[in-house]
Amino acid sequence: MEIRINPTARPKERPTDESKLGFGHIFTDHMLLIDYDGAKGWHNARIEPYAPLNLDPAAACLHYGQMIFEGLKAYHGKDGGIYLFRAVDNFDRFNHSAKRVCMPELDVDLGMEALKTLILLDREWIPKTRGTSLYIRPTMIATEPFLGVRASSKYLFYIIIGPVGSYYAEGLSPVKIYVEDRYVRAVPGGTGEAKTGGNYAASLLPAKEANEKGFAQVLWLDGREKMYVEEVGTMNIFFVVDEKVITAPLTGSVLKGITRDSVIRIVRDSGLKMEERLLPIDEVVAAASNGRLKEAFGTGTAAVISPVGQITYKDKNYVIADGEMGKLSQKLYDEILAIQYAEKPDPYGWVERIG
Ligand code: PMP
Repeated sequence: MEIRINPTARPKERPTDESKLGFGHIFTDHMLLIDYDGAKGWHNARIEPYAPLNLDPAAACLHYGQMIFEGLKAYHGKDGGIYLFRAVDNFDRFNHSAKRVCMPELDVDLGMEALKTLILLDREWIPKTRGTSLYIRPTMIATEPFLGVRASSKYLFYIIIGPVGSYYAEGLSPVKIYVEDRYVRAVPGGTGEAKTGGNYAASLLPAKEANEKGFAQVLWLDGREKMYVEEVGTMNIFFVVDEKVITAPLTGSVLKGITRDSVIRIVRDSGLKMEERLLPIDEVVAAASNGRLKEAFGTGTAAVISPVGQITYKDKNYVIADGEMGKLSQKLYDEILAIQYAEKPDPYGWVERIG
């Protein structure tokens, strides 16, 4: 499909201080859009100057939450090249989410071509300092104007991109997390595995309450028994007990994290014991109490590895790794960043140079 480009006549001022990028509030000069309707399928691929969307107030996404998104990054490599990390996996997950909320899938090759075209057009926006990157937000919304609960017949796919620094104010400092035993994020058969807006809306109140108590994030337990650890805010979670690395299995209520998958591969290749299994919170706090819990860390595109220095469950605090970043957390962070910034050969075929 041809992607028409309508370049901006008024380029924006680019940020000059890469140490102050923050996360998620600066966007480049352009955005990519593709329309969908039942008769034509995906059509009208175009790049336009970044601007507000023209949306009917009755558009289905605004009422019934029929929308999905993705989050991935492009990196300025050590050799000056531009690199994507496992982008095809993000488009596959996007299509998985699409199916769950009755939206049309997008051809992965089309998504990749669209993404590369947009990034190369705005390539001057990619920050160069290690740890910074270009954040990419593919999104699909239901645009048919009607009130009534049924799948829309029209959709808009778009991609916006922007330079980012670190996601958490804490950076790589260990965070305190609150084990949520009242609210739940997802239940078996629900939408937990899909990256759809409603999951995040539902997480806001618990996150706010945890923030007010001084916690950076909420650790979610399974929605049925509130017994097993699932994930944290916008990250999957790993625990190191004795010599074993343990994370929740993909039972349908946990997001299939791409960083999670990368960590599992690296852990296995390092000869460590990796377990994807139901992990009772009681086992975690028992291990924390008797010194067997060596490390805990979250994994996600935004922060890559976020060490956990303390968890609080039923009003009891458990300090992990003396509140410091653990050895494995550091090793995984270093190894994944070295691959993302093309500082060392990529044995997994995860990065693709696009320019
Ligand atoms: N869980 C949730 C709920 C998330 O939003 C994210 C971020 N996409 C993750 C886990 C981590 O996934 P990834 O490693 O693909 O960024």
